[in-house]
This record gives sequence, structure tokens and C-alpha cells, in this order.
Amino acid sequence: MAIPTPSRQLFIDGEWREPVNKNRLPIINPATEEIIGASLNFSCAIPAATAEDVNIAVEAARKALLRNGGKDWASATGAHRAKYLRAIAAKITEKKSELAKLEAIDCGKPFDEAAWDIDDVAGCFEYYADIAEAFDSKKKLPVSVPMETFKCHVLKEPIGVVGLITPWNYPLLMATWKVAPALAAGCTAILKPSELASITCLELGEVCREVGLPPGVLNILTGLGPEAGAPLASHPHVDKIAFTGSTATGSKIMTAAAQLVKPVTLELGGKSPIVVFEDVDLDKAAEWTLFGCFWTNGQICSATSRLIVHESIAVPFLDKLVKWCENIQISDPLEDGCRLGPVVSNGQYEKVLKFIATAKEEGATILTGGARPQHLKKGYFVEPTIITDVNTSMQIWREEVFGPVLCVKTFSTEEEAIELANDTQYGLGSAVLSQDSERCERLTGAFQSGLVWVNCSQPCFAQAPWGGRKRSGFGRELGEWGLEIYLNIKQVTEYVSSDAW
Ligand code: NAD
Repeated sequence: MAIPTPSRQLFIDGEWREPVNKNRLPIINPATEEIIGASLNFSCAIPAATAEDVNIAVEAARKALLRNGGKDWASATGAHRAKYLRAIAAKITEKKSELAKLEAIDCGKPFDEAAWDIDDVAGCFEYYADIAEAFDSKKKLPVSVPMETFKCHVLKEPIGVVGLITPWNYPLLMATWKVAPALAAGCTAILKPSELASITCLELGEVCREVGLPPGVLNILTGLGPEAGAPLASHPHVDKIAFTGSTATGSKIMTAAAQLVKPVTLELGGKSPIVVFEDVDLDKAAEWTLFGCFWTNGQICSATSRLIVHESIAVPFLDKLVKWCENIQISDPLEDGCRLGPVVSNGQYEKVLKFIATAKEEGATILTGGARPQHLKKGYFVEPTIITDVNTSMQIWREEVFGPVLCVKTFSTEEEAIELANDTQYGLGSAVLSQDSERCERLTGAFQSGLVWVNCSQPCFAQAPWGGRKRSGFGRELGEWGLEIYLNIKQVTEYVSSDAW
């Protein structure tokens, strides 16, 4: 089905501007392998920013941060900023269906999932509007010091101009997790979405224009990582970088930021475990296991993609999982009832199939899936895949696939389960399924990850902190923690002795 898609430019200083070099990048619908809009003779290629555009956007963001003589974003009250955040939330809700369709054709996620993402986007802007309002009474905090001749307080101030670099798996939602708290804190921002899925992020620019967000407060530069992302990360007038993406790119961003001693927060990859004990209800446990791994076509940073199941229930449990996998509706994301769409790109499709081929070569067994579904001749579709006979030195156990692939190991004791769960370079999420609450508490304490799910996998709320340990990164987004990463803490100490000085 052809969806009319808007053709946008870069969003800089409140206006649509052509990139300096006029270059554009094609956008491909991963379900059809067609350039989006080509059938309508309508250009929806996205603009490709370079360092020159980054310079212009950074200047606009600086001006908006501290506009001389006029009202500026950094010193406005939280209540003032909240009005814009609420207006953005309302507009996004108004455009929900249109945005969800664009998200589905751009990154391949089922329409229903895309629609839930858009609800979460609006909810996140609303939540940070509340936080911005509450911040007005929290930005100046007294500090008690042991000498009466001094009075001390702390000021929490916006960190400045921030660069926000985001991935393609939740294009608008990942952008929102950064844009909403950054703007609530009083920062101005340059958003660089992924070149593989930028359409809805550009639509956020249109939303900002429609609600009258002051020019330069949010600038949106689409383009390639090395051409648009790298100059943003290394720009001397960008005060902080918040990045979500792969561990490899995160490491490059950190290296660039280190040259200027620039603060960064990194939300990176994962290879999260789900530990299933023998006392679970098999149906419920199967549902959470499948949801935890195959949601968003398996392209979730926190996907619980390593199943660690008690040996006594492994056979009936895997039988259930296989039956479901073989009955799931894999189709165009816009088709009614779609539960699994394509992965985002040809590159990702080949990468996922290569992971499966290597697992086979290394001696693992493909219990179900492992290939393109036979009924789909076009599109980057991969069947939901379950891999057994895995050992801990195999690539499939150790590396993030970022596709619909679950690998399985069994365990006999709790200690063994914990050891397997923590046997990873990553530390984003961990899940435990068991009716024994004391056991769940022990595992919660033992897991080496930033997120723990008990008797579930993946729920996420704007109010609760999100982030990882080890090579899954550092810093926390969402909740009040998500605001703190955009604030600078200033110590103010005053000499208050009555003596003359
Ligand atoms: P990626 O690292 O390839 O790209 C992420 C972003 O970085 C894109 O906007 C890209 O253009 C940009 N980029 C690439 N090279 C750059 C460079 N040299 N300098 C600056 N920017 C550059 O990641 P991806 O493939 O878009 O996303 C998938 C990855 O994201 C997975 O590893 C996934 O686990 C991770 N992820 C993590 C979280 C989390 O919360 N921890 C959430 C979503 C995705």
C-alpha cells in the first residue's frame, strides 16, 4: 500500500532548510524493498546533513539557549517550557495514526506496535512537562555547611547545547527519551536520528513548528553517522552528547567526546538473559519469553534473547515456544494482525542470517525458523528462530543479533542459572520467571544489569530509570534521573560574617 510521505528538509532554527551540499538519502520500505514514495513520483528521500549543517544548527541552538535581550530557553521557568512540551504531546496524539503508519513503513515494525510507541511518545512529553513544572521549586537547594560564616546552596542549571544521536528501532520514541528531558531541563538540542529511519523524527520538527516552539530550541539533522553524527559529537560548542546505538559506535562517540572532556551518556547494546524456573505456569512463561525476544521484530536493545530454562521443563516449554513461532502472522506491518514484520534493512537481514549460519557451523541446532518465510518473496523478513545445543563460547550466545533469534541453554541449579545469566559483556536487562518470591529477590540482587524484570520482560515506563552496566553503557534516561543528565550542578558559597571584609 502506498502511503503519501512528506518530503522534508533539515529542521534548523525553526525552519526547513536544504542541506548545504543539497544531498539526500533514499528511504527504503523494508517490507517491499521499494524506495518509499517512488510509486507516487514523490520525493521522500531524507536530507543528508554534513559538518557545515551541524555548524549552522549548533549556532542556532546556542542563540536559542542564551538569546541576548529577549526571552531565552535556558532561563525560562519550567512552567513556561512545560507549555510547549504539553502542546507537542497533544499534537503527536492528534497525528497518531499518520505517525504510526510512517514508523511502520520506515522501520518495519507492526502498525499496532508503532501506534503504542506513538502513545508512549506523547506520554513521555507529558511526563517531562510535569517534571519541568516541578523543577521550578527544586533548582535551588540549600546545603548545610559546618561554619556559620558561610551560606551554601546548589543551583541546578541546564548543561547547555546538547547533541542527541539515536537509533532506528524505536525512531521517534528513542528521540523523545532524549528531547523531552533535555528541553524540560532548559537545554537546546540538535537531534541526529538514524539514517535508516528518520521520517517520524523529521515530523517532530513539523510538530514543533506547528506549536510555535521558539526557533533553535530543537534542531533536527538527518544524515549518515560519520558525516552528520561524528561532527556533532566532536563539535566544541556542543556541551554534552546523549547517544543510543551500538556499543561500537558508542565507543567512537566516547573517544571523540574525550578529546574535549565532554560529558556523554551511552545507551548501548545488550544480550539479556531470561531465567525460567521449573515452578512457572508454562503458558504465561512462554508468552513473556516470546514477547521479550520477538517484540519489534527482535530489534530491541534489551531483548531477552538468551533463554536459560530449568532442565526439568525444557522439553514441554520449548514445544510451546516452537508452536507459537510456527503460527505467528509474519506480514507487511500494515496488514491487520501482523505480529512480526521485516528487519530494518538489507544489511540487517544479511547480518541476522549470517549469525544463524555461524551458529549452525559452530554446532548449534536450529529448532525452528532460521530463514526467510516461504510465503514472502520480497522484504527483509526473517522467521522467528530458536536455537538450541548452544555452548557459552558460541557467537550466538555472546554477541547481540538484533533480530528475531532466541538462543537456549538449560540449567540445573540456581547458582548455575546466575552464572549463565551474567556470562556476558553486556549488562542492560535481566529477567527471572518463578513463583518463589525469595528466589526472585536473590536473582534480582545477583543480576549484573541496569534493569531487572520479575515475572515479565520488557515493560518500560517514562517514570522509571532506564540504562545499562558493563558494555551496555552508562547514565540513566527516563524518570527524574533522565532530567539530571541534562543539568549542571553549581555550588554557590557566600561569606556571611558580619565582620567587615
Ligand atoms: P548505530 O550505532 O549503528 O547507530 C546509532 C546512531 O549513531 C545513528 O544515528 C548513526 O547514524 C549514528 N552514528 C553512526 N556512526 C557514527 C559516528 N561515527 N559518530 C556519530 N554518530 C554515528 O546503532 P543502530 O544500528 O542504529 O541501533 C542499533 C543498536 O542500538 C543496537 O546495538 C541496540 O542494542 C542499540 N540500542 C540501545 C538502546 C538502549 O536503550 N540501550 C536502545 C535502542 C537501541
